[in-house]
Amino acid sequence: MINNQRIPFFNYQQLFKDHAQEYLKIIEDVCERGAYIMGEELTLFEQKLSRYTGAKYAIGVADGTMALILGLMSVGIQKDDEVLVPSHTFIATAASVHHVGAKPVLVDCGRDHLIDPESVRKAITSRTRAIIPVQLNGRTANMDKILEISAQYDLKIVEDAAQALGSKFKEKMAGTFGDVGTFSFYPSKTLGGFGDGGAIVTNDEHIAYKIRALRDHGRSESGEIIGWGFNARLDNLQAAILSFKLDVYPESIQKRRNLAAIYHERLKEIKQLILPVGPDEQVNHYDIYQNYEIEAENREELIKYLRENGINTIIQWGGNCIHQFPALKLSVNVPYTEKMSKSYMLLPLNPVLIKQEIEYICDKIIKFYIK
Ligand SMILES: *Cc1c(COP(=O)(O)O)cnc(C)c1O
Repeated sequence: MINNQRIPFFNYQQLFKDHAQEYLKIIEDVCERGAYIMGEELTLFEQKLSRYTGAKYAIGVADGTMALILGLMSVGIQKDDEVLVPSHTFIATAASVHHVGAKPVLVDCGRDHLIDPESVRKAITSRTRAIIPVQLNGRTANMDKILEISAQYDLKIVEDAAQALGSKFKEKMAGTFGDVGTFSFYPSKTLGGFGDGGAIVTNDEHIAYKIRALRDHGRSESGEIIGWGFNARLDNLQAAILSFKLDVYPESIQKRRNLAAIYHERLKEIKQLILPVGPDEQVNHYDIYQNYEIEAENREELIKYLRENGINTIIQWGGNCIHQFPALKLSVNVPYTEKMSKSYMLLPLNPVLIKQEIEYICDKIIKFYIK
């Protein structure tokens, strides 16, 4: 059974099958009522998300990128402001800064692949207005250091927690440290919908009010236009699906953590690899392992070898960090990011994988390096 198996990187089909009856019932129920836009399921999902994260307000929006754009606008980021963004992130993080007229200034990451506070300090100028810490791969950065810097220089914090719903630093949830925090429900995210979706959380009533209007053509809840807005609502059908998924979310996180523990135990002695911190070795952090991102010596050969053995891996964003896209002309000095961009890759990790599959992947990796 273990030989000749194929391990896809992600398995949408199986993920659907696991709860197919429940999903079909939800879809039928919403469609029978024609409750497509701004329905009660959206309100219910927002309440659940607020309770889950501990943030006072949660607002569903069209996707994680819109969440960032509206988040930046709601804290007043505008033309010619500079916003600090780690170079090791999805293009959407920097694009959102660009789309509000501001300038993304790229900073380095550390060995944890998260924003490096020292690099942040060095990049601050008189125009810097905000920091976007990206809680990448399901891990929350050391937010004590980021908050200290933001207090010292009076900078806004917009947390890109697209990959980190449920992740914690010192018992506090990703997305709740800054002025606003954003999430993505892209299908392969830990809480994935059946299409695009996103959300913003905040503890600030006025910011929440602005975001609710921004996502719905500038309309307040009474229907009055209070400013320019967008069509950036989260579909009610998506909200209904996500609401169900959020109920069973803690179990799926636990599965990810259990599988990550196997990777960690089996691979930690391999000198050619740098691994994420194992789930049982974390003191202040609680990772949800959206991704299991490693640094691997001889990466291209390893990927090829694993593929020959039926194992599909991925290099996030095709192996390019944001400073490496020539068309964007954002080249900067980010030495760690530059170095690790040649070795980083993702091993399969999702809740439909089983222990034996992770063991099989580990067997092959060990065989590749140890021979
Ligand atoms: C997925 C992702 C986004 C964008 O989310 P979408 O819902 O795809 O728009 C932003 N930042 C990071 C780090 C992401 O992984």
